Amino acid sequence: MRTELTELCGVAASFHRRGYAFGSTGNLSVRLNDEVWITPTGRSLRDLKPDDLACITLDGQRKNEARPSKEFPFHLGCYRAALEARALVHLHATHSVAISCLTDLDPAEPLPVITPYYLMRVAPLGIVDYFTPGSAELGAAVEKAAASHSCMLLRNHGLIALGATLSEAVDRAEELEETARLYFLLRGERTRALTAEQREAIAAAYPRR
Ligand SMILES: [Zn+2]
Repeated sequence: MRTELTELCGVAASFHRRGYAFGSTGNLSVRLNDEVWITPTGRSLRDLKPDDLACITLDGQRKNEARPSKEFPFHLGCYRAALEARALVHLHATHSVAISCLTDLDPAEPLPVITPYYLMRVAPLGIVDYFTPGSAELGAAVEKAAASHSCMLLRNHGLIALGATLSEAVDRAEELEETARLYFLLRGERTRALTAEQREAIAAAYPRR
């Protein structure tokens, strides 16, 4: 267990170092059996240690002294809705937040499918309406979306990526943020999206769990 918690702290520090998380924003968790280990509230992701992580049960009972991120309701909601999920990454990464603030997003395809990697790791991308951070309403809305999406944009807030492993959740979060960045780089440019045939070939070669 210690290994997983050390890995979680290492990933958190890496997100901070690379600018995906700033200030005390962002929170991560891993599910180990029926316990969820989550980054603490009000702390930077920069220098966490395993002893700083909060432990809660799937129904929200606190198991140690550390105070969990205030976003713990949506972490628990995701683990309840996506039974295979073992890790969650939540970031206020700049380009993903920018996309989440755009009006007229297509709920079926909020970002154009311009690379195979977006298709392999992110799509279909879910959109969750805006609710107050940390609220039960946000938790319920995310739980609903997590039943059919591994990646979500929270309106005017940030991103969520789930994975069967921590590294899968990390890869998805990074792919989503970089695709959002590409979207703004290409905005106004004539852009080629993958064709239906190319998308089918990717789905056949790299089936999603
Ligand atoms: Zn947040």
